[in-house]
Amino acid sequence: GKRQRLLVVANRLPVSAKRTGENTWSLEMSPGGLVSGLLGVADEFETKWVGWPGVDVYDAAEKNALSKSLAEMKCIPVFLEEVFDQYYNGYCNGVLWPILHHMGLPQEDHNDTNKTLQTQYDAYKKANRMFLDVIIENYEEGDLVWIHDYHLMFLPQYLKEHNNKIKIGWFLHSPFPSSEVFKTLPSRSELLRSVLAADLLGFHTYDFASHFERTCTRILGVEGTHEGIVDHGKATRVAVFPIGIDPNRFIKACALPEVRQQMTELKERFAGKKVILGVDRLDMIKGIPQKFLGFEKFLEENMDWRDKVVLVQIAVPTRNNVPEYRKVKTQVHGLVGRINGRFGSVSSLPIHHLDCSVDFNFLCALYAIADVMLVTSLRDGMNLVSYEFIACQEAKKGVLVLSEFAGAAQSLGAGAILVNPWDVTEVSSAIKEALNMPLEEREKRHRVNFQYVKTHSAKKWGNDFISELHTFSESEMKSK
Ligand code: UDP
Repeated sequence: GKRQRLLVVANRLPVSAKRTGENTWSLEMSPGGLVSGLLGVADEFETKWVGWPGVDVYDAAEKNALSKSLAEMKCIPVFLEEVFDQYYNGYCNGVLWPILHHMGLPQEDHNDTNKTLQTQYDAYKKANRMFLDVIIENYEEGDLVWIHDYHLMFLPQYLKEHNNKIKIGWFLHSPFPSSEVFKTLPSRSELLRSVLAADLLGFHTYDFASHFERTCTRILGVEGTHEGIVDHGKATRVAVFPIGIDPNRFIKACALPEVRQQMTELKERFAGKKVILGVDRLDMIKGIPQKFLGFEKFLEENMDWRDKVVLVQIAVPTRNNVPEYRKVKTQVHGLVGRINGRFGSVSSLPIHHLDCSVDFNFLCALYAIADVMLVTSLRDGMNLVSYEFIACQEAKKGVLVLSEFAGAAQSLGAGAILVNPWDVTEVSSAIKEALNMPLEEREKRHRVNFQYVKTHSAKKWGNDFISELHTFSESEMKSK
């Protein structure tokens, strides 16, 4: 029979497009969380993707050519053109991202701030309408629509206004803040109401889901019941779906000859030293300065460790068009200079800080040879890097030091050493504890976390969310 159709809508399509000639494109699927997440429903559902293709194309013939190539990969592009900058760099990354991560609204010392905010907000709504138009063009009766993330908070309402029967799920990949923080957002009520137009809302953790529910109650005066949030007789379900990774992709990579070779080279390079690893986008929320301060204190207080440990930090460049991100980069570079200046020698440096991304195989080699993984996020939706580290540590059984403010702390807390990244002393002692931990204890902790990572895969996450949305829409149809 005909398979149930599913439209997956996210800011970014899961492909990267490269121009290979006039009106010809080469496309590559990027195997991120969303792609892995939908592996589980691939047989049951006919999936199409809707999103921004990652390149700006203005010419009609070019758009056509790219759309055709994308269609072969089941992708439908939304061309955002001149709206993109204000929508994405402006409202999404400059306003919503800091609010959702408890960082507060950006404050500039000139009276243009309100005007800027208004312009960005208008662009945000416009971009959401552009997504709406593309969905309407491609929607067929009975399709399920799964919307992703804070980029598209107006889409549930816009879609329902267009056609009240469309079944809509919305998943938030970031944290949801306490109501006291969300309240500061000028457009707080409109955003919440729009999201509530969906049928099912998903969050990574119970904390984020209950923050959301309480925020709706406080700001909109709506009621939280066992059926979900009830507003004017309409119930919106709220549920928890912690995302995971595709663990086998990492386990397999670690067995490849090329990766084994890289591991050997890295081990030689760092012979006689323990390796602490950090892998983060260079984002304020990742707490990289806090990580370096904790490491500095550790070196200060543990003289005997100074030439026996190295911190390798991969700081993946990100969002360079947002001013705050340039500031944190400067701050981080200052700290690296100070700490290497204080504790380095002619032949060795305590911190190897790299402003770059690394390819997948090399990343797996790094994960596999590390003795300690250090995650000090100040706030983080999940933090998949911690999952990936565990998947690559079958041989080594290294220790995960994990911020209690990452979503992953709820799932990997049993095997990790949890820290408050703001507490420099605690980070420093956690580093010491991790470096000194006996094998037996490391094995025990690794086993618990490895089991979790294996069983709570991205595939399961996608499956759980879609089943819930699907079942829910079927039971509703029957009751009519
Ligand atoms: N990653 C990457 N390139 C790199 C280093 C890491 O693409 O050079 C990937 C990493 O494998 C992980 C993702 O980036 O899947 C980061 O996800 P996470 O949930 O930890 O944080 P986010 O960046 O989404 O805030």
